[in-house]
Amino acid sequence: MKLLVATAKTQGARENDFAHCVEGELLWVAPPCGDGESSPDSRCGCGRAFGGLSSHRGTTTALVADLPDFTFSDYADALRASLAAQGWPPEAAEDVATDLLALAAEWEVGTVLERRDDWFAERLMSGG
Ligand SMILES: [Zn+2]
Repeated sequence: MKLLVATAKTQGARENDFAHCVEGELLWVAPPCGDGESSPDSRCGCGRAFGGLSSHRGTTTALVADLPDFTFSDYADALRASLAAQGWPPEAAEDVATDLLALAAEWEVGTVLERRDDWFAERLMSGG
């Protein structure tokens, strides 16, 4: 299945990029705070960030990866544990998993995505 994982690829394409996640860790898209919702380029940065399920840190670049042995149930379990650890409602895990898989399914494997609040765009890779 196609999932979003943390990547350092294309970091620096925007001046306010950041990559605090562990390369390759699973990502989710957390609801932004008021500051992040007002602009993806806000000081907080959560409106342009993907969140790492393990590190609980953020990155502005997500890679669409294919994890063939990973199942929906594995994904929901990982989300449930991470949401609970970060103070989000763990019962939302299956809905969050469904939304994230729908997002990843729209893109080719290898695509690097950026987030602008609730809008996502492909980053063009320079020089492969
Ligand atoms: Zn925020």
